[in-house]
Amino acid sequence: MNVTQAMELLKEKGYKYTKKREEMLRLFADEKRYLSAKDVLEKMYKDYPGLSFDTIYRNLATFAQLEILEVTELEGEKKFRFSCSTTQHHHHLICLECGKTKAVHNCPMEDINITFPDFEVTGHKFEIYGYCKSCTP
Ligand SMILES: [Zn+2]
Ligand SMILES: [Zn+2]
Ligand SMILES: [Zn+2]
Repeated sequence: MNVTQAMELLKEKGYKYTKKREEMLRLFADEKRYLSAKDVLEKMYKDYPGLSFDTIYRNLATFAQLEILEVTELEGEKKFRFSCSTTQHHHHLICLECGKTKAVHNCPMEDINITFPDFEVTGHKFEIYGYCKSCTP
């Protein structure tokens, strides 16, 4: 997913173009890491002083619903990032300090399915938390 694709998708789904939405998406494209609504507000406040937390949150929720953004909950706060361009099933290593992620292509479910053959799995979540190289003290 990139900004152009995201904007196309929004148009397709009937959301009208706004400069603010584009800026918001551009921010995620540039940052390539998990950001909270608060982070977005801090980054955009200078250019859009009237922008409210609610507006940002509503837009982020829309983006997540359209799968433009991936969402997770870190330390009790919802965080968003641009969806990975890979369509392959994967998980993430997430740095708790800077929010940067790395894709992990091994899935622990392969073992779980062998261990619990009688359990019908309908979905799973798996994230690995820690500190990236530049954030390790
Ligand atoms: Zn991903
Ligand atoms: Zn880091
Ligand atoms: Zn998996």
